[in-house]
Amino acid sequence: MPELPEVETARRITESTLVGKTLTGVELRLPKVLRDSPIDSVEPLIGATVMGARRRAKIMIIDWSNDLSMMVHFKLAGQWAVISPNGERAVAGHPVPHPYGEYPHKSTHATLTFEDGTIVQYSDIRQFGWWRILPTEDVAAAIDEFGYGPEATEPLDIALLAPVMMRRGIPIKTLLLDQTYIAGLGNIYVDEVLWRARVHPATHANKLSAIKRNTILREIPPVIAEGIRQGGAKIVHNIAHPVDGFPAVHGRAGEPCLRCGTEIVKLRVGQRGTYICPKCQKLT
Ligand SMILES: [Zn+2]
Repeated sequence: MPELPEVETARRITESTLVGKTLTGVELRLPKVLRDSPIDSVEPLIGATVMGARRRAKIMIIDWSNDLSMMVHFKLAGQWAVISPNGERAVAGHPVPHPYGEYPHKSTHATLTFEDGTIVQYSDIRQFGWWRILPTEDVAAAIDEFGYGPEATEPLDIALLAPVMMRRGIPIKTLLLDQTYIAGLGNIYVDEVLWRARVHPATHANKLSAIKRNTILREIPPVIAEGIRQGGAKIVHNIAHPVDGFPAVHGRAGEPCLRCGTEIVKLRVGQRGTYICPKCQKLT
């Protein structure tokens, strides 16, 4: 967390609330947010206007009128809150601290102020998140360095991706979390995809049947789409609060499987907390 749907939600909020607005002030309280930034200050954005917000994998890219861009990676716990002049809040990212509380608090590492009074509060209790400020023309090369695979939001090329599974003797969950294989799939959504496909996450990718390989790849875009529709999965302190049966499995240890009623269990696959229905997802 935050995963692709949360980042896409932040992007949509940014697009709908900040495009056309000019930055008038910046307060950066934690300089290490810019630790890998080609430009080591947010000041050059002052006086520039937000032109748009894009996303690649879990990186949000905000383009500014002075041909600079800002890449934002929320990593484990980044949170993006846009507060309109009338006090209305639009929030995305990690749910802790509660984004409807007082700002700034001790984890509010940056505040952006726009000329109409709109404010962005960027918080991160874990401090792994980062921003990079760079010329817009350098963004594509900067993104290329991550070697991202195809976007999990788009229909996936099964003819290209299924054969990769056949060659990998590693747990399918580990492969799906590899951002060079498919970009943007994280822990929560992989658990959901494998529950829908009725595949145990520790099953080695090269042991899956052709039907299971295809089912897994087909379930990815709808699972991500459901996450985006909900503005991100409702999971607080590792406990899911499902809406319309989503998330169905992640964060629901001890709760009944929505398909068969068996208790959901938590286990570890590749060091990641993993949730399964032991009846629907048997290890074969
Ligand atoms: Zn079940």
